[in-house]
Amino acid sequence: MAELFGMTGKIARVDLTKETVTVIEPAEEIYRKFLGGSAMGAYFLFKEGIFDPKLDPLGPDNLLQFMIGPVTGAAPNARITLVTKSAYNIFCASTCGGHFGSELKYAGWDGIQVVGKASKPVYLAVLDDTIEIRDASHVWGKGVEESELILKSEVLAELELREGMLRDADLNPQWAAMRPPKRLGLHAKRLAHVMAIGPGGENQVWYSCVVTEGARAAGRWGAGAVMGSKNLKAVVVRGTKGHKLADKKTFLALVSGIQKSERGDYFWRSYGTAGIGANSAYVEDAFPIRNWQWCSWADPHVKAITGPFMDQTSFVRKTSCYGCNLHCLYPVEVTSSDPLMDGTMSDMPDWEAMGMVGGNLGYMEMEGTDPGQPFTGSVKDQAEHLAKLQYTTFLHDDASLDFIEGGNNLALVMELVQRGFIDKNDLDGIDLKWGDVHAVDEILKKIVAREGIGDKLAQGTYETARYFAELKGKPEIMNYSMTAHHYGQPAHDVRSPKDKNALEYVTVNRACAHTGGGTGGFKSGDWAAAIAGQNVNAAQNSLVHCQFAAGHWAGNRIDLIKAATGWSDFSDEDMQLVGAREYALSRLFEIHIRQLKDPKEEYDKQVPPRWFNDPLPTGPEKGAVAYEGKPDVLFNEALPAYWKERGWTEDKGVPTLDTLKKLGIDDVAGAVASEHL
Ligand code: SF4
Repeated sequence: MAELFGMTGKIARVDLTKETVTVIEPAEEIYRKFLGGSAMGAYFLFKEGIFDPKLDPLGPDNLLQFMIGPVTGAAPNARITLVTKSAYNIFCASTCGGHFGSELKYAGWDGIQVVGKASKPVYLAVLDDTIEIRDASHVWGKGVEESELILKSEVLAELELREGMLRDADLNPQWAAMRPPKRLGLHAKRLAHVMAIGPGGENQVWYSCVVTEGARAAGRWGAGAVMGSKNLKAVVVRGTKGHKLADKKTFLALVSGIQKSERGDYFWRSYGTAGIGANSAYVEDAFPIRNWQWCSWADPHVKAITGPFMDQTSFVRKTSCYGCNLHCLYPVEVTSSDPLMDGTMSDMPDWEAMGMVGGNLGYMEMEGTDPGQPFTGSVKDQAEHLAKLQYTTFLHDDASLDFIEGGNNLALVMELVQRGFIDKNDLDGIDLKWGDVHAVDEILKKIVAREGIGDKLAQGTYETARYFAELKGKPEIMNYSMTAHHYGQPAHDVRSPKDKNALEYVTVNRACAHTGGGTGGFKSGDWAAAIAGQNVNAAQNSLVHCQFAAGHWAGNRIDLIKAATGWSDFSDEDMQLVGAREYALSRLFEIHIRQLKDPKEEYDKQVPPRWFNDPLPTGPEKGAVAYEGKPDVLFNEALPAYWKERGWTEDKGVPTLDTLKKLGIDDVAGAVASEHL
């Protein structure tokens, strides 16, 4: 094979049943077609037959992939994408920041694929070319943060071992005095990076995620449950090889330009998404409050939950993902008069957590009031409300749960209690009322342990609604499941014209993702623009880099790929094709694994009726509903037009054979498509 640049040309394949490690060497043509990350992962789901409807997502035959791309390594804003068949029986391509992706490249791998199931808890120790399957019984049952700290000290490169073994007595006094003790052993300058699951993943809670650095998560669609089903606690990577680039000088000059641009981004460097967060309620009227019954508060005093407010009460320090100069991440120490929460080390929270396990759980109002009433509390009360949402963020992160799906799930149950459909007798005696963090703490423990009612709730929002609808003989309970493609809606509503468009959530290829792109095109009905936006975001998840930095990468992205790979003719059109291939494959994947005869009726139309039926009750967009309350316009006019623009059939949204041929993937997915056309 010709020498590759940017990529290493090697993907490790670990079979936990057979306890073997083999190496896959994809042809350069495959890298050009899919780059890496999400698109490459989608390709392997087809190549390895994971589209088989009989293949159990939580069985040993499922394929869990940790995938990076050609610029991952020396480029800033690095991420990794986890691709698998989700426990929800949907396409999972979930990205994660931190340093793990770059470290994997430095170890000499473009990805790790895991199949099979270990007979006991294990972790993978990746030290450059060597991959060992090691016993993980000592960390099984522990939260992600503690597990990470323990496992980091067990996979040490020669450098750390050397530093760790040297004693002060081995050095002359001057050198010994200069050597900071924190550089020793576990505290060496560079250590392995870890992606781990907590007890939520071990117990296969469907919406379990995979976490690195305590709170950076491949958050959505349940890769953690798949990892737990394989008895795989963690992957620990230490790489010392570097990143082989075709044109190092140009690449590093481009990196320097991106980092300089990022340093001028005052807004993002201040508080990241937390800088807007709950304040968006008063501008966009699209923030989740009490299971989306409200999207803004009537009284703007609630908006004290801001980046600066969090900074004053709890921020410890700034951190960032690899090479990022935006550093939008903040570990916090929770301050509260409630001993349950006080002193907990947590994460910011960011916009999504502020919404999904903050506003959506009724944490921000005073007890006995609702979001339509005046705020009667003090600044101290607001600080306690912040503590609740930071603590609930921690509970999700440490157990490795997606707080977007988790927040929808808890809010659904709270609304069912509010409306009298269920009560504490249906919840093992837990009185799950708006704003009650102790009740949330109790029920989350049950969900994580899959104990009692927690076992039902562990299958996520849609299945929770189905369970109670059947139990109570009340099909209308499904109306309160805030899910599209059976997965929870993120903290952006579709009724306000200022935020997401409903068709975005219906068409995005990763169920109900808020980072799908193309918003402007969806709003204006310019389907070509909408699709171009979706394609470029999918390609970003294949490179893989952070979408928050997309503005700083714009104009540099193609040149970076060229400098990394040496593909001098690589173009924006090629980026579009990468995204279009991923969209076609993931659409076919979901249609096939679900064996959908009429995908629109059976799947696409299962969105929250609240979008069309419940006008926004407060705020600048008071009275707004999605598509003027006419779902037929969305599903019978806009959706077929979008599908047609993609080269998919207008009735079912199936990519045609002609389209697959144009995309160069008819050999990969043509046979599957033929079954559904
Ligand atoms: S912007 Fe934030 S999430 Fe993105 S790479 Fe930088 S630190 Fe990570």
